[in-house]
Amino acid sequence: MSCVFCGIVSGEIPSDRVAEGDDYLAFRDVAPAAPTHVLIIPKRHIDGIAATDPKDADLLGRMLLVASEIARQEGIDESGYRVVINEGAEGGQTVEHLHIHVLGRRGMSWPPG
Ligand code: AMP
Repeated sequence: MSCVFCGIVSGEIPSDRVAEGDDYLAFRDVAPAAPTHVLIIPKRHIDGIAATDPKDADLLGRMLLVASEIARQEGIDESGYRVVINEGAEGGQTVEHLHIHVLGRRGMSWPPG
């Protein structure tokens, strides 16, 4: 299998799912960088944010709304949280399937390392 997140969408790779829609899936990060760490991905393979175009506007908007809904679901909406997309080598992207990180339950600094 070429893409680990496509494997999660198909069910070939197990995941701890927290939300699902027709065109997106949200699951817990296997190596959490914070006590709450959820990834939101499109079910369709897209390499990253740089590979999106205007026809993806609804999908991208929905994924951001899902990020805020998950924050409410996880109980971090009042304490605060971070929503991140890493793009490309210098952006720190390690999985080439678009994903939004939702991180919370610990203090974050800025700028990121
Ligand atoms: P990025 O570095 O932005 O590409 O983030 C990729 C994230 O995917 C990392 O935080 C990994 O821990 C996470 N990850 C990789 N494989 C899996 C998996 N099988 N299930 C859940 N999360 C994963």
